[in-house]
Amino acid sequence: MMHELSVCIALMEQVERIAREHEAAQVDKIVLQLGPLSGVEADLLRHAWPLASVGTLAESAELVIDSMPVKVKCTHCGAISEVPPNRLLCADCGDFRTRLLSGDEMLLANLELSQIHQPTESQATCV
Ligand SMILES: [Zn+2]
Repeated sequence: MMHELSVCIALMEQVERIAREHEAAQVDKIVLQLGPLSGVEADLLRHAWPLASVGTLAESAELVIDSMPVKVKCTHCGAISEVPPNRLLCADCGDFRTRLLSGDEMLLANLELSQIHQPTESQATCV
């Protein structure tokens, strides 16, 4: 739980930074790509989310978690196969010498933001 909460807080910092860069008033939706080998549990992340997002621009955002498949590339025959997370063998030749292509990611894939209504263009900044 603590691990997922700290993951959420780090994610929230990233989300808020992007939202600020785009001068967003609020974050509507967050799409996260999560692989089974990332070490983060989607359910725990969902539970930790409200704690991390309270009082932020993303407080009312919908959190969508896209589960990513585990894919490996065989260093022996070159085949790319989708495999179960506990069995990283080439589906073609059965070799164990595979390289992980996906399945361990925790990526911010997409953000939907509501923009602040822009003031009229004649508003000059005089300091
Ligand atoms: Zn192979």
